[in-house]
Amino acid sequence: MTQSETLFEQAQKYIPGGVNSPVRAFRGVGGTPIFFKHAEGAYLYDEDDRRYIDYVGSWGPMILGHSDPRIRQVLHAQVDLGVGYGAPTAIETDMAKKVCELVPSIELVRMVNSGTEATMSAIRLARGYTGRDKIVKFEGCYHGHVDSLLVKAGSGALTLGVPNSPGIPASLAEHTLTLTYNDINGVREVFDRMGDQIAAIIVEPVAGNMNCIPPVPGFLETLREVCDAHGSVLIFDEVMTGFRVSLGGAQGFYGITPDLTALGKVIGGGLPVGAFGGKRDIMEQIAPLGPVYQAGTLSGNPLAMAAGLATLNAISEPGFHDRLTAKTQQLCEGLKQAADEAGIPLTVQRAGAMFGLFFTDAPSVTTFDQVMACDVERFKAFFQGMLKEGIYLAPSAFEAGFVSAALSSQDIEATVNAARTVLATL
Ligand code: PMP
Repeated sequence: MTQSETLFEQAQKYIPGGVNSPVRAFRGVGGTPIFFKHAEGAYLYDEDDRRYIDYVGSWGPMILGHSDPRIRQVLHAQVDLGVGYGAPTAIETDMAKKVCELVPSIELVRMVNSGTEATMSAIRLARGYTGRDKIVKFEGCYHGHVDSLLVKAGSGALTLGVPNSPGIPASLAEHTLTLTYNDINGVREVFDRMGDQIAAIIVEPVAGNMNCIPPVPGFLETLREVCDAHGSVLIFDEVMTGFRVSLGGAQGFYGITPDLTALGKVIGGGLPVGAFGGKRDIMEQIAPLGPVYQAGTLSGNPLAMAAGLATLNAISEPGFHDRLTAKTQQLCEGLKQAADEAGIPLTVQRAGAMFGLFFTDAPSVTTFDQVMACDVERFKAFFQGMLKEGIYLAPSAFEAGFVSAALSSQDIEATVNAARTVLATL
């Protein structure tokens, strides 16, 4: 038995499914989850001392790679000063200022502890601001495990086959209107019919929880247009895309300005952080300025702020995203070429430093139905093969992959060579 197998057995005695977040259980790919002991740069090391090249990056935060010396240094320094006070600190303002500078649509920002909290708060704020109940989301998009948003959700909910979770009152779910991602006419039709009841649209500006699906031209523009026409709030969930698709997120990359933005992952540099922010007049509705309540014992925690701010500073260095995007491109082109050589139909999609692998004949994948038509069994075999080769991909066919700055050209070359070996066996 491997250490991971032993540890997984023990974990299942005390933790539901042995994990604290469902996709980690490997239900989407079979086999035993790998238990990790440490990580450095582009590599993860498991409890059996095997090394893996990492394309998960703690599900997105580790854009610099693991255990970056700059992050370690600020964390150590903050530990010496105390790990939290539950009172204002200077670093919270530094962080807020940095976020407002990097994401110009954000005029005021509130820190929270996870992406889920960020989207949940943004939805409450949009409802409070507009005095409306209905929200629009898109099938296969995941916005955290918020009650109103676990309707036709992606990510682990999709991997585990529970896109509509039990435990959510029908009376709440009925306020969530679910449309098809990238379906411009569907959006127009719903807004023509009931736009004056819709508080907000929430969208992943690049969908990363049903694999990786960039918006088709005109999709995000249409969302902006209908929200303007009907007085609804446009919320970009940039928990995944923020600071990754470009320094200014997907909104910077595509040039669309949302009213509110939810952030997570990279903003915490690996510590539990989320944030939501946007237009001043909307954000001023939040307590203590306004009546919409939102709070958090650990929100703005100085350790978390230190790691997050150091990460945002590091990725602000000139050329950072160009280099990261070039690495992602090298990976995607290499994998595509390896699949072509093996005669395996594979479509590789990319937005900035996130990517998706689709085992399909379709030259591009733009809709949820197309994602569902991909060969999941082949993905599982590919995943397991790559794992044996020491390449750690997200353990689900419905998750985007992430590239970190710590990956060298040689790491990517090694990954493509591993893929060549694995694809030849499929
Ligand atoms: N929104 C998006 C787009 C996400 O990808 C995720 C998590 N993968 C969330 C929200 C929820 O974030 P968290 O897991 O930190 O609650």
